[in-house]
Amino acid sequence: MNQTETSPSETPPAGRARVRLLVMNAALGPLDYTVPPSLDVEPGSVVIAPLGPRQVTGIVWETERLPGAPVPFAKLRPILDVMPVPPLSAPLRRLIEWTADYYCASMSSVARMALSSGAALRGGGSITEYRLTGEDPGRMTPQRERALDALQGEQGTIRELSALSEVSEAVLRGLVNAGALEPVQVDIDRPYPAADPAHAPPALNDGQQAVADRFVAAVAERRFAPFLLDGVTGSGKTEVYFEAVAEAIRSDRQVLVLLPEIALTENFLKRFEARFGVAPVVWHSNQKSSERRRAWRQVASGSAQVVVGARSALFLPFARLGLIVVDEAHEISFKQDDGVRYNARDVAVMRARFEGAPVILASATPALESLQMAEAGVYEKLDLPARFGGANLPDIAIVDLREQVPPRGRWIAPPLVEAMRERLDRGEQALLFLNRRGYAPLTLCRNCGYRFQCPNCSAWLVEHRLSARLACHHCGHEVPSPEACPECGERDCLTACGPGVERIADEVSQIFPEARTAVVTSDTLSNPEKIGAFVDAAHAGAIDVIVGTQLVTKGYHFPELTLVGVIDADLGLEGGDLRAAERSYQQIAQVAGRAGRAKKAGEVMIQTRHPEAPVIAALAAGDRDAFYAAETEARRHAGAPPFGRWAAIIVSSEDEAEARDAARAIGGAAPRMDDLAVYGPAPAPLSLLRNRYRYRLLIYARRSAALQDTLRNWLGSLAFPSGVRVGIDIDPYSFV
Ligand code: ADP
Ligand code: ZN
Repeated sequence: MNQTETSPSETPPAGRARVRLLVMNAALGPLDYTVPPSLDVEPGSVVIAPLGPRQVTGIVWETERLPGAPVPFAKLRPILDVMPVPPLSAPLRRLIEWTADYYCASMSSVARMALSSGAALRGGGSITEYRLTGEDPGRMTPQRERALDALQGEQGTIRELSALSEVSEAVLRGLVNAGALEPVQVDIDRPYPAADPAHAPPALNDGQQAVADRFVAAVAERRFAPFLLDGVTGSGKTEVYFEAVAEAIRSDRQVLVLLPEIALTENFLKRFEARFGVAPVVWHSNQKSSERRRAWRQVASGSAQVVVGARSALFLPFARLGLIVVDEAHEISFKQDDGVRYNARDVAVMRARFEGAPVILASATPALESLQMAEAGVYEKLDLPARFGGANLPDIAIVDLREQVPPRGRWIAPPLVEAMRERLDRGEQALLFLNRRGYAPLTLCRNCGYRFQCPNCSAWLVEHRLSARLACHHCGHEVPSPEACPECGERDCLTACGPGVERIADEVSQIFPEARTAVVTSDTLSNPEKIGAFVDAAHAGAIDVIVGTQLVTKGYHFPELTLVGVIDADLGLEGGDLRAAERSYQQIAQVAGRAGRAKKAGEVMIQTRHPEAPVIAALAAGDRDAFYAAETEARRHAGAPPFGRWAAIIVSSEDEAEARDAARAIGGAAPRMDDLAVYGPAPAPLSLLRNRYRYRLLIYARRSAALQDTLRNWLGSLAFPSGVRVGIDIDPYSFV
């Protein structure tokens, strides 16, 4: 575009206004357009505009006082159309600007997260969905039978039903003609049923009531107020923040509840429905596009009252946001590690600030950063120190694996076996925790030593016996489990090394053949139905032993669960990254919190080779404060977050030399500043990921340093070949 200077006082041609658009193209900055007299726009309007030969979606960012050298009116192109959705609010636009600025991302890539339902931007209407009639279709085929089975209680478009039943669209059309499926017209934007704040409020105890009162007052005040709700597992944090939700509903304000994983949603939905009479609005990436559209539009119109979702819900276009809750706020899955690398917990606090609303970070094991903010007086800390109903916190015992050695090829030490036997005899439940999916983390050939490695990543393939496959946990590459070694051709020579949850479950069945065992991982509980079935079975006492990964560490409340065994407490400490100790502490404390949540007392056994490690000692002594104090000192001493700031630069390319050269060029151009130090480049621990070679640099900065500006200037001065990707990770959580 021609950037000729013109006088700023240039009068626009009659009836035409100039606007600046944020166009959905990461390579471009904001662009100026004109508005034809037939269209009405305001800041935040979502529009269609021409860009070269194409059309792009854009957001009207500014309508007056456009700084910079203006392009003459005559050269501007007119926007083409305004989408029939409410304009993005000023607080959301500020959030987009802040997020792009803080995480060194392009504004358009952040704005895309707000326009996360393409379907929602189009006008309303109705669609035809189909459901079973109960009529017999006459001629029966295996395909038809499968469809009739799978579609019980379902409703959706032919395409959705086809995906759901794994039966072709043609077969489903045949069922429509045969009268077994019938069409139903559905308004795509029908509102959700209203939640009733008075449906079934609990009788809170005094401690809970005091915290709830504080929250309710904050919601009523309609001002920014960040809270850290610190309460042991089972103390009633959810019940208490539900009172804040109730107040928001009463005063017609919207609520956003962020959960760290979709897997927790099912449990949350049940509790929410029990308390408020209806389910909340759900938002996550695996939803049907029609559901996403409906949710997005109801959020934007203000009629969706309570939205529960994973981190992407943070950028939804709420009309009247009155409260944000981040549950299990310490969870690292709130950190997004691809695309825009942001931390949803921190962005949630900023959103609350821009919206002028309270935000509650709830956790039994808050992140050190959050505790520090409370200590500094930025967050108001509210405590729920006791379990509800007098349930005691479980007893914690250490099993020193150097003395209590499990038999060869086994991982459960004798004291834990004994404790499990007691539970089984009494008809109670036990939970074994090991944060490793699959059967074994490494498979090798006994004959030639060959190890199965991913062709795309520097990682071993993990054996999954339940699905009879070897899988890469980084890129998803899978092969059927082979019978012979691909290297030497020997049969029956492949050996599994080390345990995963499937192998522990095998061990349980060998020791206790009668025990009913459930393996709980993202592989086995891959959808809401399976999660629901597991929860029901566990509640009904149909499961004796649960063997699970971090997926079972939170959220669940099983009254008969009285024993938790941690198979390998040292596993999490191996990585050695900044948060390894904190993460281990949180995980083990959370899983320990599953034991003895009701009347019966709980017991936790932690297997370790390092009973003297500070994390393990603190867990054994139940001394959380001591652990946090030691960890805080260590971080302060190292200038690590939250006392200093870190950033990572990740350089990758399919060409190894190209990645290395680019990383070296970045290292060579590193700024020399007193309050900033640059380490690397070095090959990343995962030096090959999805066929891309990777290098990393780590930047340590004092809090005084202008970290983001420095990074932008530094990288902005360099040019790279087109195959090179350079990512910036502010406040990194992952160091692989
Ligand atoms: P947290 O979120 O802190 O782990 P929850 O809110 O899940 O705690 O509470 C633990 C259990 O105790 C849940 O089953 C919950 O319904 C129950 N509970 C907590 N407070 C009350 C209360 N005041 N009245 C009835 N049940 C309660
Ligand atoms: Zn891989």
